[in-house]
Amino acid sequence: MNKDNASTLDVRHDPMGAAIADFYKNGVAGRLRVFSSLFDEDEIPVEHLFREEDEMGELELTALDCSVGKVLDVGAGAGCHALALQDRGVEVTAIDVSPLSVKVMSDSGVEDARLVNLYDESLQGSFDTILLLMNGSGIIGKIENMPRFFARINQLLAEGGQVLMDSSDLIYLFEDEDGGVDIDLAGDYYGEVDFMMQYKNIKGETFDWLYVDFATLAFHAAENGFEAELVKQGEHYDYLARLTRKE
Ligand code: SAH
Repeated sequence: MNKDNASTLDVRHDPMGAAIADFYKNGVAGRLRVFSSLFDEDEIPVEHLFREEDEMGELELTALDCSVGKVLDVGAGAGCHALALQDRGVEVTAIDVSPLSVKVMSDSGVEDARLVNLYDESLQGSFDTILLLMNGSGIIGKIENMPRFFARINQLLAEGGQVLMDSSDLIYLFEDEDGGVDIDLAGDYYGEVDFMMQYKNIKGETFDWLYVDFATLAFHAAENGFEAELVKQGEHYDYLARLTRKE
């Protein structure tokens, strides 16, 4: 989903969307399974994608509080943040590459839900706040895509606008008991992960998903004409960042 193209998913390969659609329709869903090269097999609790404000974490609540003006929610999923913002009277456009998720968003009252890839240039507009939440840096895919990401954000951001994005530093996965770190400095950046999801017999394609520590994000922001600010740190190596154009 974040390969070089800017397409959307085929419904037959949209496992997260299928899980979201099931949960929306029936109030329950099966297991949304996640496979990756770095983690053991895991599951995304589907109900979590439908969380309301009182179930949200501090970082995402802070992001909602900071969301001003015209908002673009990128990778909006089931639309939990878009709905929360609409309730607060904020104007929001929610985009996702998952056809089944976008349908659920429309059906559940997201006024402007669009099936479109962030990188599809048919998506135009001038947004005061661009939100990327639930390890939103994932959509960048790999460190090498940083220039492409910042160029695209630059196109969509209004003057004085901001990007609010959360991420995690995966360094803890490589730390030993003595606090030493075992990473191959000549290898790929340690937060580059590939994932595959499965729901029932629906399998998605493998995709790249980036976890990035704040210092690395700030470095690439600066290289690409942006500034990164650490808005808030979470409880476990996670944080919320604000990206703005360099003055
Ligand atoms: N923000 C939501 C969902 C996060 S899951 C929440 O916090 O609950 C990440 C979402 O990003 C998925 O729904 C996936 O389909 C979408 N996505 C991935 N790459 C994308 C891209 N290039 N453009 C738009 N959406 C994308």
